[in-house]
Amino acid sequence: MSPTFEDLGLHKGVLSALDQVGYTAPTEIQADGIPPMLDGRDMVAQAPTGTGKTAAFGCLLAHETTPEEGTQALVLTPTRELARQVADEIESLCQVRGQRVLTIYGGVGYKPQIDGLERGSEIVVGTPGRIRDLIERGDFDASTCETVVLDEADRMLDMGFIEDVSWIVDHTRRDRQSLLFSATIPPGVEHLADEFCHQPANLAVGDTTKDEDRPEYLVRVGKRNRAWALERILETEQPDLAFVFCRTRHRTEKIAGLLDGHGYNAEPIQGGMSQNARERVMGRVREGDVDILVGTNVLARGIDVRRCELVVNYQPPRDPEDYIHRVGRTARMQDVGAAYTIATDEDTRAIVEIEGHTGASLTEIDVPETSQDDKITKIDDWEEKADPMGRVHFRIRGVTDSSRMDVFWYLVDNAGVSQADLGQVAEEDDGLIVKVRHDAAGRLQDHLHKNGVLGRDVDVSIATPE
Ligand code: ADP
Ligand code: MG
Repeated sequence: MSPTFEDLGLHKGVLSALDQVGYTAPTEIQADGIPPMLDGRDMVAQAPTGTGKTAAFGCLLAHETTPEEGTQALVLTPTRELARQVADEIESLCQVRGQRVLTIYGGVGYKPQIDGLERGSEIVVGTPGRIRDLIERGDFDASTCETVVLDEADRMLDMGFIEDVSWIVDHTRRDRQSLLFSATIPPGVEHLADEFCHQPANLAVGDTTKDEDRPEYLVRVGKRNRAWALERILETEQPDLAFVFCRTRHRTEKIAGLLDGHGYNAEPIQGGMSQNARERVMGRVREGDVDILVGTNVLARGIDVRRCELVVNYQPPRDPEDYIHRVGRTARMQDVGAAYTIATDEDTRAIVEIEGHTGASLTEIDVPETSQDDKITKIDDWEEKADPMGRVHFRIRGVTDSSRMDVFWYLVDNAGVSQADLGQVAEEDDGLIVKVRHDAAGRLQDHLHKNGVLGRDVDVSIATPE
């Protein structure tokens, strides 16, 4: 039989807090992870997205720290929004015992954080930059921290963070308990983890790559038609809330603006926005006032909004691990949700890497059909259809009895294409092949459809070799 929270040996105050939060039974990572942590073991824990890793270490901190005895625990996260969310969850687990949880991150004023430290707080949660800053300034004495948690540990140990993280950890107690959590612990991170931990318990539960409640689709389009595909996906899925991921800050703004202009309630979130604006957006998302949140990877890690029923990768992520985290924003716990990745030919390699490195398997589907008119119309992407010389090949059937030169001059005189746009007309088994520069291809196709050739209706198809 699976254990109850009582069986795990948690403090009475924590048990009644769990009761108030409404968690009736521990999840797998909680059931397996809490006992060794209570024994004081260091731990490297891997469990899928949305399976309650926060409460796993949150219960430990709520159990282990004592009110009014100074800062005893430090939790580091990669983003400010995640720090906020993790602090809220820990605070709710401490609501009965009364430990204070303080968040420390950049982009907001120092004063409230310094005041908070002066008043005292048993648990500090934050991002590395500001925490290091406050330690250097002498405002935060981390040397009393007995427990250090790296949430999203693989991210905290990668190049962007590791220097600050090591520096901070070196300023905590030498005999501290170190706990590393993530849905992804790539092999390269394991040996780094050993530097932070002392003979850690290595725990891996669940299957990180498969969530029965979350189909994962791959939709291929030409590079000018990502937005069209996105709209079709949104219309098909009709999610309560969707997260759309882009690679750049600029793109999140553009896509959110585009969706907004087409009647969607969409907001961007990206690291170039003021922290105030970021928090306003997240607040509105949690209140249910935003339908589509378009973000960079700031949104990829840890964010838990149960209303999110759809994740769309407008572009696949550069880092394969991020794929797992992005799609993990939906179908959390027993919830359902779907994940789509929009990809062009240029993304083929990224998709291969995602499938190879993470074991994810994406089901390729056509751009979904919808019953109503497209809000974002499909663009004829002639460049995508052109040969390496930039020419689109049309196969024209129905005029084989006309000479190739007659057809050539007819098109130059009537179809809005110049001599320079057109290549020689060639004959092929059952038709003529006309090659035209991609920027004139739309005009040519329109003419062929409307007026045919030399007064005759023709059958037109694209014949550019693959
Ligand atoms: P992870 O960090 O593993 O991605 P989270 O800690 O964000 O997952 O938890 C995912 C969701 O599960 C949250 O909404 C949280 O409130 C909920 N949750 C966590 N533990 C339990 C539990 N024991 N019972 C019910 N819900 C839980
Ligand atoms: Mg988490």
